Amino acid sequence: MLISDTGGGHRASAEALEAMMESLRPGENDVRIVDVFTEYCRWPFNTFVSGYQIMAKNSWMWKYSYHATSIVPVMHTVNFFSNLFCKPDFERCIREHDPDLVVSLHPLTQTVPLRVLEELGGGRRQVPFATVVTDLGSAHPWWFDRRVDRCFIPSDAVRKVAIRRHLSSEQIRQHGLPVRPSFWQAPRPREELCLELGLDTTRKTVLVVGGGDGVGSLGRIVEATANELRRHIPGSAQVVAVCGKNHKLRSQLEARDWGDVHVQVRGFVSKMSDYMSCADVMITKAGPGTIAEATIRGVPTMLSSFLPGQEAGNVPFVTDNGFGEYSRRPKQIARTVRKWIQDPQQLEEMSEAARACATPEATHEIASDLLEMLK
Ligand code: UDP
Repeated sequence: MLISDTGGGHRASAEALEAMMESLRPGENDVRIVDVFTEYCRWPFNTFVSGYQIMAKNSWMWKYSYHATSIVPVMHTVNFFSNLFCKPDFERCIREHDPDLVVSLHPLTQTVPLRVLEELGGGRRQVPFATVVTDLGSAHPWWFDRRVDRCFIPSDAVRKVAIRRHLSSEQIRQHGLPVRPSFWQAPRPREELCLELGLDTTRKTVLVVGGGDGVGSLGRIVEATANELRRHIPGSAQVVAVCGKNHKLRSQLEARDWGDVHVQVRGFVSKMSDYMSCADVMITKAGPGTIAEATIRGVPTMLSSFLPGQEAGNVPFVTDNGFGEYSRRPKQIARTVRKWIQDPQQLEEMSEAARACATPEATHEIASDLLEMLK
């Protein structure tokens, strides 16, 4: 499974599929998840992860590179240079793992590995190849290469891009986004989970997340939310700030005195499913993985930012389907969330609307199709 650890979503989806394949055919397959750029490629390609973190924090950079690389001649030029510089490294990776199936879960791991596999097969690719698109409401054209055997897409919006990129209906499979095993089953009782996570069982819970890297003005949002709750509904709600891999933000938030508002600060949490099960409301950047997980747990979702291009389509996915709103302004975000908390009926309706968009079977269906391809 080829990924790059840009954000947390690619690895989370790959791990979900690995776990499901193992549960369907225990001990039969040897799945390797490889961050091919970091582990095999030379400079500057091996700096993608830190480059992504910088761009995700400065979204204008992301915006220009995303849109520029979506223009076909620019795409072809970048592909040409990637082939030139990365092909030997991808070839080393593929020779070392000698796969019976290659699954790409990143937009930049189609073109080069397909070329390598063709060359290794003497001009004809022998190894089956599948793409699993881990974006939700929109997708970069790089995801779609007409040479793949299967392309798994999560939504109608992404299907449209796949068709525009000339993939055929035989290649496309629409199941949803893969999610990790903790989301496959119904959650344990909320009270039990809250106690385990050190949360107050009597207060409403606002979960604040910024993807795997803890990006998107999290600090200002936590502060505005804490102030809003203190001012309008003192003692009735708590905030859980999940900082992901953003260690600096975590230390900053931990060092603060939050007074009588319960603000629980966490780093990268492994039990996201449990946190979502305890949450009455979530504030998050428009990350596809987090949104898909929120639909399964039925969590009303306030979107606070999105990566231009890549995550833009995730905003209408949430707002048009009636389980959330979008604002970039921390005070507006805090006010909206506080009003939801004060209106249990609205919370219930939004929770229902979220569940109506959930695709909890997606992991099972994609993994079954991949196992079929291995035959
Ligand atoms: N995540 C997690 N623990 C954390 C923060 C994030 O498990 O502390 C997971 C989150 O549940 C989701 C993924 O990381 O599955 C983030 O993916 P998403 O597509 O939302 O955003 P990305 O980080 O890829 O931009």
